Amino acid sequence: MNGPLLSKEPGSLRLGHAAASQLRWVLADVHPLIETIRVGRDLSPLAAIGLGQMLAAAAMLTRLTAKRPLRMLLEASGTGPLGRVRAEADTLGHLRGMVEQRLASEGSTNKGIPQLGTGILRVVRQSDKQSYESKVELVGGGVARNVANFLDTSEQIRSAVLLGVQARRRGVVAGGGLIVQALPDADPTILATLEAKLDELPGASQLLEEGGPQGLLEAALGELEPEELHVAPLILSCDCDRERFGSHIRSLAETEPDLLADKETRVQCSFCGAEYAFAATELTATVN
Ligand SMILES: [Zn+2]
Repeated sequence: MNGPLLSKEPGSLRLGHAAASQLRWVLADVHPLIETIRVGRDLSPLAAIGLGQMLAAAAMLTRLTAKRPLRMLLEASGTGPLGRVRAEADTLGHLRGMVEQRLASEGSTNKGIPQLGTGILRVVRQSDKQSYESKVELVGGGVARNVANFLDTSEQIRSAVLLGVQARRRGVVAGGGLIVQALPDADPTILATLEAKLDELPGASQLLEEGGPQGLLEAALGELEPEELHVAPLILSCDCDRERFGSHIRSLAETEPDLLADKETRVQCSFCGAEYAFAATELTATVN
């Protein structure tokens, strides 16, 4: 049986202010996490780039959306090369993610970044009592453009979103992102000025590869004197369990009894790759 994916090192999530508290920022480093998933789930470079961007975005969104969630689910279902891509994060820094076309090697890209195509971005924020779901249409472009559009249209917070994952032949060498938002009393032009400056920068993946998350932060906000307020680890964690897979198969078998024809049924978690095997006798025992 495959065990759960465990990355040797954690990633990090850092939060702070800049420009004398006119801006707030969140900076995510998911490099060790996406490299662990790439190796464990045998992702193509393109799939690793798309999933790494989604993981970084989900981790950052747990800190940025209005209705403070305990858990955040970000799922893009589009016509792009990756199909459905999903990332889940919670406020304890746990992350997991899956990509439908994990071997994708061709299809719509822009400078090596997979495009999401047309479809839907679904964002679910779960608190202990409630769950809020937003759906926005994909607007073309990659993950960063669609996350910025979600924050703008659904949360009414204009945001600068930078995401980057660098995949080299030897593996993923950098991955993460930065989201910057203007706080309510900010100079109304400050974010637009910043966005114009960010457009001139090399890509986030290049900045992360050259200087790590600190290099990305300094390139983007160095002149605005960023001040760090909080830092927390990000770790891979999957809460799949055998019992839930078992009851799922049992309920499927009620309409598709052929599922139980084999001596053994194996299922694999599409997030962490853990495999669960069920003997037919075990599955039929509770089916009436
Ligand atoms: Zn799992």
